[in-house]
Amino acid sequence: MSIKDKLSEHFEIEDACRHYLESVIDGISDPVMIIDDGYNIQLMNEAAQKSLEHHLIADIEHPKCYEVSHHRSVPCDGLKHPCPLKKVMETKKSISVMHDHLDSEGKARSVELTISPLSDRDEKFIGLMEVARDITHDIEIKEKLKKQKDITQYQAHHDTLTGLSNRTLFVDRLGQSIKKAYRSESKVAVLFIDLDNFKEINDSFGHSFGDEVLKAVTRRFLAIIRRTDTLARIGGDEFAMMIDDELKDSAVVIDIVHEMMQIMREPFVIEHHSLYVTLSIGISLYPEDAAVADILLKNADAAMHRSKEEGRNTYQFYTEDMTEKAFERIVMETSLREALDAEEFIVHYQPQINAETEMLVGMEALVRWEHKSMGLISPAKFIHLAEETGLIVDLDRQVMRAAMRQVSAWYAEGLDPGILALNLAMKQLQQEDFIPMLEAMIQETGCKAKWLELEVTEGKIMKRPEQAIETLRKISDLGILLAIDDFGTGYSSLAYLKRLPIDKLKIDRSFLIDVPHDEDDVAIVRAVIALATSMNMSMIAEGVETAQQRDFLLQNGCSDIQGYFYARPMPAEKMTTLLRERSATGSKRSF
Ligand code: C2E
Ligand code: CA
Ligand code: CA
Repeated sequence: MSIKDKLSEHFEIEDACRHYLESVIDGISDPVMIIDDGYNIQLMNEAAQKSLEHHLIADIEHPKCYEVSHHRSVPCDGLKHPCPLKKVMETKKSISVMHDHLDSEGKARSVELTISPLSDRDEKFIGLMEVARDITHDIEIKEKLKKQKDITQYQAHHDTLTGLSNRTLFVDRLGQSIKKAYRSESKVAVLFIDLDNFKEINDSFGHSFGDEVLKAVTRRFLAIIRRTDTLARIGGDEFAMMIDDELKDSAVVIDIVHEMMQIMREPFVIEHHSLYVTLSIGISLYPEDAAVADILLKNADAAMHRSKEEGRNTYQFYTEDMTEKAFERIVMETSLREALDAEEFIVHYQPQINAETEMLVGMEALVRWEHKSMGLISPAKFIHLAEETGLIVDLDRQVMRAAMRQVSAWYAEGLDPGILALNLAMKQLQQEDFIPMLEAMIQETGCKAKWLELEVTEGKIMKRPEQAIETLRKISDLGILLAIDDFGTGYSSLAYLKRLPIDKLKIDRSFLIDVPHDEDDVAIVRAVIALATSMNMSMIAEGVETAQQRDFLLQNGCSDIQGYFYARPMPAEKMTTLLRERSATGSKRSF
């Protein structure tokens, strides 16, 4: 074979090899470049050639890798953007690195470069192969996911309304503070803070107004807490605060509590309404009261409930007996629900007597809880809780239905129970379906509207008279009587009293206890009687226990009386017996 033939065969083989190699790298979808140690591109696959198009490349026949990847006229260097090829040239080892490239439109792309050294048959370094995978999109997705995760994380630990920590984060931080306090032998105090009248605010002004109140309260708290204290909103109107910062002395806690109560003295002005918020606070301390975060918080909660019992707007330190109470309360709340389902509530009836004639004029339905193991439970023990939890709506309806059925049965038998007085929680009046429900119940039980009287407590009605007026009118239009319960204990505006369709005032028991000895009470009762008379309302005195009280009332013009003096509340069966006796003998004094 001639040299010429040999050469041409050599070139043919080289050509075939090159062609073969090209088709292999073209099959790779990421840009691949073979680069020599002078940054000259020896070979590119199709994907890499795409980025050649718009570039300013000095010599298009001999492009440099940095011209193609970076639109630069010199290789990458420096700490910020080091040349990854250099490293491979030095170490002769493959690497994978993140690197920034510019695309054909000059936009920055993040690429993952895999660079491997190439050597000839004698292991002599002859260049590099660079595979560039564009991961810009992946990174964007990852960042988005991370952001989303951060947001979710934040939301999982914060209260969206106030931006404060939530219970989870609070308990977590409390746990950390306890650990720290254990090491430094210091104390941690937990304050459980409950707004006293928030429920009423929410019920009267609506939820979005309530939200504004919570935000305003939060701002006041934040203005006084120290950097090291943690404030959290852990429930509707419940906040918790943690005081650590190497706390040695619980006197510091009292100072803070006083300050919190102090800043509430100024009214809040929200949507032109000016209102006051008071706080009930419970305090527990590490290590005295508990060594674990959630128990410490629970104990502060129990102490807060004691503050409520003490008449609100006050604070209490936790004591051990509170745990028992708190437990009782939880048991009560759960069983209250169950009792409703099991219809364990029964109605007792207390006679209302005209003291002049000694005739029965009516009776008040008073609920009792017939508990499986605890026996008869007085409403004083559970009405408040039922109101707090909203269970009062269903409870009142059960009582209303049972009492209406009973009264209908008495009338059907030819007995005369007089007017049936029913207690109504304010929440009941606020139910949208109250009027249709009431009408349906009257129908269903065979009751007559004129046999009924609904009692609403003064304090509750006067808190939001405008709102109550419409419903009261509708009730009155049905022919049902309306009475204001516990009259004298709230602050009635006479202007409203005139506008409300009220038929009767019930003089509260508290004014009668010391009558006729206490001058002030005597004056109050006389004033209430005069007020009712001048407003053309009827009246009844409740809680009358003695003949002196009765005589005083009679002398002063109030003849209707409800009280132990005549009769205690009694079960329906007993009332039936009495009504029958009375009807048979015609006797007035059956009670
Ligand atoms: P109230 O409406 O003021 O009911 C009068 C309370 O005074 C009753 O207590 C009654 O047993 C008691 N009482 C009557 N006469 C005398 C007396 O001479 N001396 C003394 N010391 N007490 C007397 P009770 O039955 O324990 O009810 C307490 C409160 O629970 C009621 O006060 C009422 O506010 C609420 N309540 C009772 N039943 C219901 C109900 O069905 N629904 C609602 N929402 N509240 C109810
Ligand atoms: Ca009542
Ligand atoms: Ca009352």
